[in-house]
Parts: sequence; structure tokens; C-alpha cells
Amino acid sequence: MSSKKSAAKPALKFNTKWQYSAAPETADHIQLNDKYDLFINGKFTAPSSGKYFDTINPATEKKIASVAEANQSDVDRAVKAARSAYNNVWSKMPAKERGKYIYRIARIMQERARELSVIESMDGGKAIRESRDVDVPLAAAHFFYYAGWADKLDYAMPGAKPQPLGVAGQIIPWNFPLLMAAWKIAPALACGNTVVLKPAETTPLTAMKLAEIIRDADLPPGVVNIVTGAGTTGAAIVNHPGIDKIAFTGSTDVGKIIQRALAGTEKKYTLELGGKAANIIFEDAAIDQAVEGIINGIFFNQGHVCCAGSRLFVQEGVADVVIRKLKDRMETLIVGDPLDKNTDIGAINSKEQLNKIKALVKIGVNEGGNCYQSSCEIPNKGFFFRPTIFTGVAQSSKIVQEEIFGPVLAIQTFRTVEEAIEKANNTPYGLSGGVWTDKGSKVFKVTSKIKAGVMWANTYNKFDPTSPFGGFKESGMGREGGLHGLGAYLKLN
Ligand code: NAD
Repeated sequence: MSSKKSAAKPALKFNTKWQYSAAPETADHIQLNDKYDLFINGKFTAPSSGKYFDTINPATEKKIASVAEANQSDVDRAVKAARSAYNNVWSKMPAKERGKYIYRIARIMQERARELSVIESMDGGKAIRESRDVDVPLAAAHFFYYAGWADKLDYAMPGAKPQPLGVAGQIIPWNFPLLMAAWKIAPALACGNTVVLKPAETTPLTAMKLAEIIRDADLPPGVVNIVTGAGTTGAAIVNHPGIDKIAFTGSTDVGKIIQRALAGTEKKYTLELGGKAANIIFEDAAIDQAVEGIINGIFFNQGHVCCAGSRLFVQEGVADVVIRKLKDRMETLIVGDPLDKNTDIGAINSKEQLNKIKALVKIGVNEGGNCYQSSCEIPNKGFFFRPTIFTGVAQSSKIVQEEIFGPVLAIQTFRTVEEAIEKANNTPYGLSGGVWTDKGSKVFKVTSKIKAGVMWANTYNKFDPTSPFGGFKESGMGREGGLHGLGAYLKLN
């Protein structure tokens, strides 16, 4: 475990015995093309403009592949293919047959899990431990879960005669690329819809691998179409008259643009947007577990998590001990190569996102907050940011109110349960939150009064395909996951 060679890893001033030798996951088995085309009607096809953009590895800043940029006419081709597949094949197929195709996708994903995990970490920057243990297994679990529902929709919605909506346009962000694709495609297909999906421009590669899996699973052509590109490609999907439903996950700003574009149309929509979750620690909590929960809540996936516990509220009596233990634990976190199995915090997804995090941290300092960063070394090349906490911040501070989407935590204290609830609710968002206490009654009181779609008690960032997910206020509308996730893709009589 400890070795001189581990000098390549960050020097841990706090506790040098925790230095680990590098343990990189091998990338030899990964098969990536230099160029990726659009996946339309079951085939890889060149974009009509002939334009491609680069996708890079944020840990090395090196180009991985060129990716097609879909324009309006490409989106039109994809929507027409999805419509034809819907009318002629998918909506007519017996539900149990649909289910078999979805199971097949799940099984191939499991077989190719290692390859998918490595590509996810290369393209997005997340630590391999997360892509290997969280993203990819959960993505396969979503396909397994919804495959099971395909022929049981009448039992899921008794008496409601559930019918598919038609063609779903699905637009996803870069923080959980494969998982978000699974989260959206699996319920849509189970309900009998066909799909046009657009991954984020910085993380298109696992979606292209998913296209290969869908082709290998022999899905009828046009049932799933995957088009790559940036915001204009997304807008072309949103505004296409042949789309019946938009499922969007991304920022609140873009969610508002989409909601305005859809107003007055008959398109259904679900919006999964930003968050600024409160993690609340009471004096009677198991403090060491709570500190782990704080670490997991904000530093997991570089803080690139919509439901990240980015605001911490600690009851006054334990504030000093919690902050001391938190700082100690932060010193043991390893920031670096996403493909190294020891890495806790990988690369920030893009230079743009890194600059946004740096700018908000600077604002926090200028506003008078006390900034503390782990002393770990970070690589010279690539986009990395040290785990960071702020104390001495006000409710009105920008870093307390705005989503940073990075490994930055704003800490405040409270005295009473009521004060904690009031402070936690003082945000335009309402996606998630956490509460840490020994008392079940306090859990129920606090979780029932916090306006958030998901609340965790004595744990954080736990996901499951059977459980609905979604927000209140500026965190969006509609629910994905579980039974609720089926409702988002069905007409009910
Ligand atoms: P973003 O809104 O910039 O982009 C999301 C997707 O929308 C991308 O595919 C992008 O190309 C596309 N897009 C951009 N402009 C568009 C437009 N005008 N019309 C249609 N599509 C457009 O978000 P991001 O930076 O990729 O992701 C981070 C955000 O996503 C954060 O705010 C985070 O909280 C949120 N998010 C929410 C959830 C949730 O479940 N609530 C989950 C993950 C991420």
C-alpha cells in the first residue's frame, strides 16, 4: 500500500501512511473510433452538414474522438425514423416482446460494463470507482427494472388504459451521461414510445456505445435514434413538430427556455433541473457517519450532482467538531487521475465548468466567506479542483444561493429544528436534501417540511430505479424513476 513510487500521487500532508501506489484501470481493452456519426434508423450516418466536433479527456486535455454535429435536417431525419418505427413496429408489438428487447439491452450493458465504465471516466472525468460502481450498474438496473414493467402497464395504472405518447425527444446533461440515457430511454421504450436522444456535447461517447449496444440487441431500426451536438441540436428536437414529449435534464436556465418554447403546444414535458440541497446535521446524529455523508454528498462525482449536498447546516453544539472532522477527512481525499482506482475526486468535466467553479469561489471569498481547501496536490495538466468548504457565509451569499456544480460546500449553523427548516427552504431550488439525527420523529418532522423532491435520512446520494426522482420550484417538474417514471410516458384515460 505505501511505497516510494506513490510519489506520483498527491502527497498527503495530513497522514502520509495513507499514500497509495497508483492503481490505474487499464484502457487497453477499449475500442473507440476516431469519428462517431449519428445513429438514425438503426444505422450510423454522417451529419448532413459534414461538421464534427471534438470530445476531449478532461483529465489530460487530449482529444478522444470527433463527433457528428446534427443540424435541423438531421434531427428531422431522426424524428421521421422514430415516427415510422412507432407507427409500424413498436406500438404494435406485443408488450412482452418489447420487454425482451429491453432486457437484452440490459444484459449487453452488463457484459460490457468494464468498457463502458472506462469510457465514461475518460470522456467525463469521473473517478472510475464511481462509473464502475454507480453509473454503469445503475444504468443496467434501469433497463432491467423497466423491462419488467413493459407487459404490466395495466397493473401499474389499474383502470387507466395506459397508451404510449408517440415519439419522445430526450436531452441529457454531462454529469451522469450513460445513467441519464438509461433513465430516459428505458421507461420510454417500456411504455411503447420511440426515442430521439441527445447526449451532452462534452460526454457523447457512452451514448454512442449505447447506440452500438442497441444495434447489437437487434432493436427494430428507428426505435432509438441518438443525435449528437450542442444547444442548437437540442433546440431542434424541442421545436420539432413531430415530437410528442420532451424529457429534459439539465440547467434551470435551459429548462426555462424549453418550457417557454413548449408553452401553447400539445407536447408533454418533464424537466429535471438544478439544485442546491441542504444537508442538515443535528447534535444527536452519529457524527462520524454524518461526516462521511457530507463528504459523499458534496465531493462524490466532483460535486457534479444536481442533488449534491452543497449547503451544510450544522447544529451549533456540534459545529466545531463536525468542521474539524470534515477538514481532517478532506485531507485524506485523493484528487487526480480518474482511471486510478484510488482516486476519490476525478477531473472537472470541462474548462468552462472549472472556470465557473473558480469564479464562484472567488465571489465567496470577496463576499467575506472563510475558504478552506484541502492541501492535496493536483495534476498540472487537466481540469482539477481541490475539495473546498466555506464557513462564515450568510444566507444571502451567492455561493449559498447559486448552484456551483463543483466540489464546494457552504457551511452554516442553526439552533432549533424550525431554524434549520427555514434556512434549508430559503432557496429557489427544491430537488433534494439530507437529515442526520438519532430521532425518527425528527426525521419525519424535518423531511415533511422541506420542499424537496427527494430527502435522505442518515445517508446521502442513494439512487434506485424503483424510486421516483424529481424536484419542486426551480428544480423542475414531473418525476422520473419508479412507477411515476412510467406515468411520464403514458396517456391515461
Ligand atoms: P445544460 O442545461 O447546459 O445542458 C443540458 C443539455 O441541454 C445538454 O445536452 C445541452 O446540449 C442541451 N441544451 C443546451 N441548450 C439547449 C437549448 N436551448 N435547447 C435544448 N437543449 C439545450 O446543463 P449541463 O451544464 O449539461 O448540466 C448541468 C445541469 O444539469 C445542472 O444544473 C444540474 O443540476 C442539472 N441536472 C439535473 C438533474 C436532475 O435530475 N434534476 C440531473 C443531472 C443534472
